Amino acid sequence: MIIVLLGPPGAGKGTQGDRLSERCGLPRYATGDILREAVRLKTRLGLEAKSYMDKGELVPDEVVLGLVRDLLGSADAKDGFILDGFPRTVAQAEGLKALLEDQGRKLDAAIYFDVSEDELIRRLSGRRVCPDCGAVYNVHTEPPAVPGRCDVCGGRLETREDDKDIATLRNRLRVYRESTEPLLEWYGRDDSTLHKLYAAGSVDDVYERLLKVVGCS
Ligand code: ADP
Ligand code: AMP
Repeated sequence: MIIVLLGPPGAGKGTQGDRLSERCGLPRYATGDILREAVRLKTRLGLEAKSYMDKGELVPDEVVLGLVRDLLGSADAKDGFILDGFPRTVAQAEGLKALLEDQGRKLDAAIYFDVSEDELIRRLSGRRVCPDCGAVYNVHTEPPAVPGRCDVCGGRLETREDDKDIATLRNRLRVYRESTEPLLEWYGRDDSTLHKLYAAGSVDDVYERLLKVVGCS
């Protein structure tokens, strides 16, 4: 199964994608996580991506498509995968389609996470991440058992650089509306691919709804 998780920053794609990945036994490829790791390691990719990410802009299509081409060619992608945060532009969606066609495969579902803008700001401003194991928390909605500490590995929780400043946060939402939202129309042309997921409510409630859309048992 090949699934794309679509939606604005903070909609819960990573949170739900993680659960789905475990349940379905499929790898989750989150381009944002991969780019952040590249920035941290100061690789060529990271140095290229950093200035865009700091401003809340999109990394150029050809850079991200190069990254995804490598992921799709890897052995662990052969039984399917979940893409989280990719594609983000129509050019990326077209690139993905071409890459899949080259492999004789096609996308099974694009799931759109529908959340109000007020809720997105609340989720983004409360997000905390563990730099050691990648676990994601929220001080308002999904707090760790011990404030500031990761439940999984005890790491010291951090706020993502691009979640710190309200101007960057709003810019990411603007970029989403301008560059990514057109994908709803693009994927919507084929009515069996696009699924709208009402993504307000608790993590458990959203997960329950998600499983009704992607029925991997
Ligand atoms: P995305 O990957 O779409 O940017 P995340 O999965 O990182 O979003 O979620 C953004 C923030 O909102 C995180 O702090 C997460 O803990 C929290 N969150 C995710 N889903 C929900 C939900 N259904 N209700 C409340 N908070 C949520
Ligand atoms: P995310 O973790 O998905 O919120 O992504 C964080 C940042 O990484 C974004 O604001 C972009 O700068 C960059 N990024 C992640 N995925 C993509 C993508 N598919 N295309 C372009 N830029 C991306």
